[in-house]
Amino acid sequence: MAVNLLIVDDSSVMRSMIAKTVAMSGLKVGEIHQAANGQEGLEQLGNHWIDLVLVDINMPVMNGEEMIRQMKQDPALRDTPIIVVSTEGSSQRIDNLLGQGVKFIHKPFSPELFRDTVKTLIGEGVINEDQDP
Ligand SMILES: [Mg+2]
Repeated sequence: MAVNLLIVDDSSVMRSMIAKTVAMSGLKVGEIHQAANGQEGLEQLGNHWIDLVLVDINMPVMNGEEMIRQMKQDPALRDTPIIVVSTEGSSQRIDNLLGQGVKFIHKPFSPELFRDTVKTLIGEGVINEDQDP
């Protein structure tokens, strides 16, 4: 099974870096969609089938916390796996997010950490085991 990804970050450089790290992780990637803020992210979720969302916290227009809040209220989106990818240091903000069933990784992150996080979130079936990061 290939995983369709949505990468939500207000920095296009960061979105490219994340896509590159994901490519090195061994994840079986299908389509990669991108959005620059939570509002665009929700639009992409409405337009495409997405299996995994990687979302920044601090973004203009709509931040990651609000995007996740809206996803959790939508029966069509509430079970979509989410990994928050952020430089956020506030443990209270992070704890609030973890309490909603999302994973959190600090950026920048290694292909190995991404791979392990995906395994716990979705399972091993989406990882190419012969591609060692
Ligand atoms: Mg940001």
